[in-house]
Order: sequence, then structure tokens, then C-alpha cells
Amino acid sequence: TIGMIVISGSGHAVAGTSTNGLTYKIPGRVGDSPIAGAGAYANSEYGAAVATGNGDIMMRFLPSFLAIELLSQGMNPSLAANTSISRIVSKYPSFSGALIVADIDGNVGVACNGMATFPYVVVNEENPEGLTVIFNCT
Ligand code: ASP
Repeated sequence: TIGMIVISGSGHAVAGTSTNGLTYKIPGRVGDSPIAGAGAYANSEYGAAVATGNGDIMMRFLPSFLAIELLSQGMNPSLAANTSISRIVSKYPSFSGALIVADIDGNVGVACNGMATFPYVVVNEENPEGLTVIFNCT
């Protein structure tokens, strides 16, 4: 899955996903990626989130929605991402997936489980060409 968040200079938050689905998926399967709140969620008051990983598990937890709810309660993006992924891991310890959360000011937080590292790219005024960050999941 490719997840993208845009926080515009005019204060809008948007999120989108494009996915191949899971390997060996059954024909007709709809994963988490097109489900608002699961694969992606945005609220221009607080920020946006995108998810990747085992969608059959993630769609039961709406991790993108939860992360933005947590932002609305005052959490920073890292803690919101962590709390949201932890909610899944508490029920499915071997869950594999990641969540990127950006607040409306452009601060980014990431959480992941079931993988060693998770790469993502940040494009902003300081990094107009894009900065690749290799996030350590452990
Ligand atoms: N979340 C996607 C799905 O379950 C797969 C992925 O992120 O690679 O369809």
C-alpha cells in the first residue's frame, strides 16, 4: 500500500491510499485501504493518518480514525500512532503493519509492528526534494 498525507498551507488535511491488497487475497476481497478510518482518515481540524499492513486485522480497529481522535484529545502524532497500533497488537501480537500520522502543523509520527524498519518520505519546506526516514520499529 502507498499511503499519502497532504497538509496544505491553507490548513487542509487530506489522506489517500493506493494498494495491491494482500498477497494471495481471494478474488473480490476489499481490504482496509479504501475504508475510511481504517486505511486512511483526515480531519482538517487535527490532521490525517494512513495505514499499511494486514488489512483484515486493521479494518476491525479503524487505526487511522483512532489516531486522529487521539490527536483531537491532545496527543502528539507519535503517541497517537503508538497508541493506535498498540490497540491492535494487544489483541494480535504478531500483527504486521504501520501507521503514519501527521498533525495539522505537519508534525509526523509513526508506529509499526511485525517488521524491523518502516521507511517513509517527508516533503516540506526544509526537504523540498523529500527526506527518506527509516523508522526503527523495535
Ligand atoms: N493493507 C493492505 C491490505 O490489507 C495491504 C498492504 O498494506 O500492503 O489490503
